[in-house]
Amino acid sequence: MSNREEPAEARRHQASLARNTRAVSLGRGPGGHDAPVNPPLVFSSTFHGTAEISAQDYGYGRFGNPTWDPFEETLASLEDAEPPALTFASGLAAMHAVLALLPPGGIVVAARHSYQGSLSLLQTAQDRGELVVRTVDILNTEEVRAALVGADMLWIESPTNPMLEVADLDVLFAAMKAENSEALCVCDNTFATPILQRPLNHGADIVVHSVSKFLSGHSDVILGAAVTRSPEMRARLWGIRSLTGAVPGPMEVWLALRGMRTLALRVERSCANALEIARRLQGDPRTGTVRYPGLPDDPGYAVASRQMDGYGAIVCVELPTAEQAERVCEEVRIFTPATSLGGVESLIERRRRHAAEPATVPAGLLRLSIGIEDIDDLWADLSAAIELATTPSR
Ligand SMILES: *Cc1c(COP(=O)(O)O)cnc(C)c1O
Repeated sequence: MSNREEPAEARRHQASLARNTRAVSLGRGPGGHDAPVNPPLVFSSTFHGTAEISAQDYGYGRFGNPTWDPFEETLASLEDAEPPALTFASGLAAMHAVLALLPPGGIVVAARHSYQGSLSLLQTAQDRGELVVRTVDILNTEEVRAALVGADMLWIESPTNPMLEVADLDVLFAAMKAENSEALCVCDNTFATPILQRPLNHGADIVVHSVSKFLSGHSDVILGAAVTRSPEMRARLWGIRSLTGAVPGPMEVWLALRGMRTLALRVERSCANALEIARRLQGDPRTGTVRYPGLPDDPGYAVASRQMDGYGAIVCVELPTAEQAERVCEEVRIFTPATSLGGVESLIERRRRHAAEPATVPAGLLRLSIGIEDIDDLWADLSAAIELATTPSR
């Protein structure tokens, strides 16, 4: 939807820059004397025009908004895609649009531990007879292969939420294409972010994001995005977005781009904090299984080391009972007991408090979204809460 055609030389220069530089410097406009350093925030539902409207025009606010362009350009570059990303009203709106690419009755293979909202959306579509859903253990390649027979889409989230299973993207997407070269390979890259993982380089056709999480980074917007290298696929998704009206307000997109300026720094600090928290929890006799793909004895460690540039900011730990896990959430003072993840502030949640969470997620499992606070403050807070939750009262 951009009216600005970047010269080829400028594109080449941008592509040569490091990802953390691109996160800061793309989407700032052409500059010039007294031009704003940041892109303008445009509140307009309609745009001047007389002659025939083309797909390049904004025209009307359901088709495009100039505030979306710099965000869509920057996110695409971070994911190593050329055509701009497409921003949506939420992560699930982006997922819904991607599912709408399927033929009626299309078969979707998805990770059984995908984000619970994604699973509910798939289940609802199946209940309405629109799609057929096959959920699989993405760590079991043979099980996935068997499910791919006749499938139209492989939907992978990696690492998964909240079990932190790491899918081998190269192997699984190649298996999907070998089974059906027309099938769509989709990756929900919310947990990893493009700083740590670029699924388009591992065979994905489409990457989707809940921008509400790490990309915006401050727990202040609900927003989604889809990214693809195929201009045809982008045009189809643009058409679905325009017709279903799953469009974001300009304010959300502006905030998300502002948040993305610090994405690389935030992810770096959060990953370092998360690794340290995971190590300390692992050696802690008061808690049970610790899940974090950055721990060398974690089942996801080998694949994550090959496929990712870091291990992420989410750590899961099990308390012996659901009551003890709840007590930890009540006693923390720096961690905030809340759902969601990916903000500068650390959050903690017992996932099974959601009735729809799969029963294969342990009842005492706590999901920690590690923020950018001081590591010793975080550990002291968590450790004191665990102490209160696990010491028998006298
Ligand atoms: C939150 C989340 C979503 C849904 O995104 P919304 O922006 O809340 O609609 C999808 N996938 C994952 C992995 C998430 O964490």
